[in-house]
Amino acid sequence: MADKLTAVKGMNDILPPDSARWEALEGTVREVMQLHAYRNIRTPIVEPTALFVRGLGEVTDIVEKEMYSFEDRLNGEQLTLRPESTAGVVRAVVEHNMLYEGGKRLYYMGPMFRHERPQRGRYRQFHQIGAEALGFGGPEVDAELILLAQALWQRLGLQDVRLELNSLGQPPERQQHRAALIAYFEQHADQLDEDAKRRLHSNPLRILDSKNPAMKVLNEGAPRLLDFLGAESLAHFNAVKAMLDANGVTYTINPRLVRGMDYYNLTVFEFITEHLGSQGTICGGGRYDYLIQEVGGKPAPAVGWALGVERVLELLKEQGALSAQWVPDVYAIVPDAQALPQVSATLQTLRRLGVSAQLHAPSGAAEGMGSMKSQFKKADASGAHFALVFGADELAQGQVTVKSLRDGQGAQRTEELAQITHWGLTLQSKT
Ligand code: ATP
Ligand code: MG
Repeated sequence: MADKLTAVKGMNDILPPDSARWEALEGTVREVMQLHAYRNIRTPIVEPTALFVRGLGEVTDIVEKEMYSFEDRLNGEQLTLRPESTAGVVRAVVEHNMLYEGGKRLYYMGPMFRHERPQRGRYRQFHQIGAEALGFGGPEVDAELILLAQALWQRLGLQDVRLELNSLGQPPERQQHRAALIAYFEQHADQLDEDAKRRLHSNPLRILDSKNPAMKVLNEGAPRLLDFLGAESLAHFNAVKAMLDANGVTYTINPRLVRGMDYYNLTVFEFITEHLGSQGTICGGGRYDYLIQEVGGKPAPAVGWALGVERVLELLKEQGALSAQWVPDVYAIVPDAQALPQVSATLQTLRRLGVSAQLHAPSGAAEGMGSMKSQFKKADASGAHFALVFGADELAQGQVTVKSLRDGQGAQRTEELAQITHWGLTLQSKT
């Protein structure tokens, strides 16, 4: 046998039955997005590296050390596996002139790639679901997006997530705060870690996003961006809060919340749980009014968020919510391979009626269909509600035996194949 190949470290296979929970989550997301009038967008997994360097900011964790970047062997293009989707969505929106007739509300789902140290809730291929509202500048859309996330938690049955909120103001306010921040950190230069020293003059705001516990106390004493906001920024922030209040959404203001990308301004927020250890942020987002022009578009405001699917699913699992399990309605038992053509036609008819059907299939061509006993064992293991037994004698009379696998008594009846449109429907489980 050849050497075994395994998945790349930090990249996971999602297998049944667990994949059913992914499907259930995705189904709920589609419903909630539609309820809020958000439409699906699908952009490539690979983008030009420059999109992320420009869009996310050169001095960010992602661009500095987490991107899977490579040169296309065939034409030398610099490419990157997307570490997030906002930049790609913005690129697409600009490229296709999508804001021509006004704002767009969009959502996406898909894999993202970051070269991080794999651990619980942190992978190298992970999945995000995101919502973006582009071409809207008012606080009502910030609030709408937060309410949309909240509605999703509610529909999923997710509990114990709290909302943290902050405002990063506008570039001139950031400039003033930046100067105060540099002065503060310079005063405490001896307490800065390596990352912080490097960022002190390139991107001091990033220091506040440090995950180093040793930096915590220093960061807590740092000048707060909130204190540098002018009247307009404050009015925007207060309007968002008023809409959340009107909807009974509880939140805390975290003046040190800065988020991992440079493109944010005004509102930023995170949904956090205490149940997932240090990977407790399940969703984060905010306003990014300057990214569209950064990527070459006509200036237009925008706001959005992204949630981490693995973290949300893990939390749901822990809380016993979203227990999705899929089983077929019918398992077809076929004592004699001769019957297979007729069996397959019958199963297709059932499927057209909306009855899910699994055909018994032996593992090797040479072994025949296997004993009735072994087939019934497989039928039980499949979780199917009914076994359909296509015995030669019954088939000769145009009949099939329907046996219940779920009521414990194994009640069975004989049905006419010619009447399948009538009795077939009774096999369909209510979904
Ligand atoms: P963190 O602080 O945990 O590194 P982040 O600020 O880098 O998160 P974002 O870029 O805002 O995360 O991505 C949005 C969400 O995607 C996060 O809140 C998280 O739920 C999820 N996420 C981010 N990175 C990973 C990863 N490597 N593995 C799994 N989920 C992730
Ligand atoms: Mg990160």
